[in-house]
Amino acid sequence: MKEMVVISGKGGTGKTSLVAAFAGLAKKAVFADCDVDAADLYLVLEPKTKQSHDFSGGKRAAIIAEKCIGCGKCREMCRFDAVSLDGQGNDVVGKTFTIDPVSCEGCKVCVEFCPVEAIEFKDAINGQWFISDTRFGTMVHAKLGIAEENSGKLVSLIRREAKIIAADDKKDLIIVDGSPGIGCPVIASITGADLVLIVTEPTLSGRHDLERVADLAAGFNIPVLVCINKSDLNPDMASSIKEYADGHGMKVAGMIRYDEAFTKAQIIKATVIEYTGAAVSEDVKALWRNVTYALG
Ligand code: SF4
Ligand code: SF4
Repeated sequence: MKEMVVISGKGGTGKTSLVAAFAGLAKKAVFADCDVDAADLYLVLEPKTKQSHDFSGGKRAAIIAEKCIGCGKCREMCRFDAVSLDGQGNDVVGKTFTIDPVSCEGCKVCVEFCPVEAIEFKDAINGQWFISDTRFGTMVHAKLGIAEENSGKLVSLIRREAKIIAADDKKDLIIVDGSPGIGCPVIASITGADLVLIVTEPTLSGRHDLERVADLAAGFNIPVLVCINKSDLNPDMASSIKEYADGHGMKVAGMIRYDEAFTKAQIIKATVIEYTGAAVSEDVKALWRNVTYALG
């Protein structure tokens, strides 16, 4: 079983549209949407949820109003301004302290300093993850709560579950829609993968983003392919990116021409190949052939 991860230096390069098209072209694959901060592969693959699970990426403090004696030690010690005096009263005080779950960073300091053990420290539910059916196969995906962190942990969980399903269902390939950027979720997306495909655009910032994410991937010793999306919009920059890739041991596996079909396909929840047989679909198929060849 092989695992390929599609990433980009930033969002909006067409990465997810390409993953959706690959999903339609792959014969025996499981799909993992690891772009958990902006998961949108579901928009095209229209998953039907079979299982849903809570995700806990850490712990948070919460004050038990009945026990709080209002000493204020927790507010004094919290470096994140998460504690305020606006809780319900009890037999001892007219108002108790409360902790804002969004501001709480789970450092546990208040728990240690509370003189009457009035602060619980429990698993926080940061989001949900799902196992779903799509018209192309099984998909594992997630929804992270607003302003929630620990997406790297969630990405690792999704990849692990996708691997289990692929092994159980005897699938040959896991296609991962990775997180954009170069942060912790991207590292969690590519660690231990068999192939990374970087999607970029022929702009100065596209080239810069490619360089950053390629540097990151190089540190993991994973074979890297590059796709230049909308390559015909700036042929000179596309050539410059190709030169850079060639010079850094990365093969340009595909040049995709600009075509509104990508957007139109997304509107009707179709892949670009389902939407049109035009030349852009042939570009995507050629890219897919190169990717599968590289995967062996
Ligand atoms: S430290 Fe404990 S008792 Fe004191 S205000 Fe905070 S929760 Fe209440
Ligand atoms: S766990 Fe840390 S961040 Fe959260 S309320 Fe207590 S002291 Fe503040």
